[in-house]
Formats: sequence, C-alpha cells, structure tokens
Amino acid sequence: MKIIVFAPHTDDIELGCGATLSRYIKEGAEVKYIAFSICEEWVPKEFPMDILFSEATNAAKSLGVKEENINIYRFRATELWKVRDKIFDIMFELNKSFSPDMVFCHSKNDLHQDHSTIAIECERVFKSSTILGYEMPWNNTEFKSNCHIKVEKEDIENKIKALDFYKSQKCKNYVDEDFIWSLAKVRGVQIKEKYAEAFEVIRVKL
Ligand SMILES: [Zn+2]
Repeated sequence: MKIIVFAPHTDDIELGCGATLSRYIKEGAEVKYIAFSICEEWVPKEFPMDILFSEATNAAKSLGVKEENINIYRFRATELWKVRDKIFDIMFELNKSFSPDMVFCHSKNDLHQDHSTIAIECERVFKSSTILGYEMPWNNTEFKSNCHIKVEKEDIENKIKALDFYKSQKCKNYVDEDFIWSLAKVRGVQIKEKYAEAFEVIRVKL
C-alpha cells in the first residue's frame, strides 16, 4: 500500500494519525510524509526558530518513515490559503509520481484555516485515492467518526514516542499521554477493540 500523510503544520500528522502510520509501516506500507509549515512564528522564544524542522524529521523517522520520503516545506502558518495554488501543484506532482492508494489529511470540518485548506486541496487532487480526515478534537465542533482504524498498544506507544521529539510543543495540553491513551480507548470502544484512531471519510475508493 502507498500512503501520503499531509500536515499543514509539523506535529499534526503524529497527533492525528501517528498510531495508524505506525501500524501501516509495520505492515509494509510505503509512506510519504509531507508538512507544509514549520510554524517559525509560533515557536517559543527559548528554542531556535526552525526547531520544528528537526523535531518533525526525527518524529517521522521514529515512526519508520524513510528520510527520503519526508518533505517539509516552509510556508507561513495561518496563510496556507494564500498559497493554495502552490500546494495544489505539490500535490498534483505527488499524485502523478506516487499515485497513492490512501491519503490522510485533516477533517474538512476542522476550524483551523490551514487544516481545512489542505483537506480541500486533497479532495481536489487525489480523485483516485481513498482520503481519510484525521481528528483534532480541540478544533472539531463537528466530526463524523465514520471510519476507525484498529491499532495495537505498541502503535499508541510509538505515537507518544514520536510526539516526544517535539520538545518545543510540550506546552500544548493535547500533547499529553493521558489524553492520547484516552482518545485511543474511546475510539477503540466504538468498534469493540482496545485501541483505534478515528477518521472522517472524505473519499473511499474500493
Ligand atoms: Zn496544525
């Protein structure tokens, strides 16, 4: 299986689908990891402005993504809608060269303008792929959890290990082990499994 995961901002992927990535990489999937912004203007003052580049690279590698499949751009956070033509072109080229079976991005119901911009461009470009939108409960006033991906305890542990590379983001209350385990349990209970991650179906190709 060929998978592309998109993050408007570094750490979105790990938070939204880190355990799913861990599972599919273990099962042999080839994964491309694409982040559009390293959010330099949001980095706490005690860290180098570009620290999210190395934190994200290390996090992705810890999940098993090959270094050559990690691509991190430096578009300005909160303004991705201004460069949606460039984002479209990047996605268009990836679709042509890699032709993914499955694409992960945010839910289209995410309130953050960068998150929904990427989700909409994904739907425009990847017409022949399954597209699943990951959740960010702090940004979703509506989220239809109509797809669940079962994961193992080890996959949640790998997700937490990957997030641990983001030393500059520790102040966020959702980068918290209890929260991550609890959400994985809630999503697991919904499908009579121990752990899962939930997604909103944007497109399914069978
Ligand atoms: Zn984000």
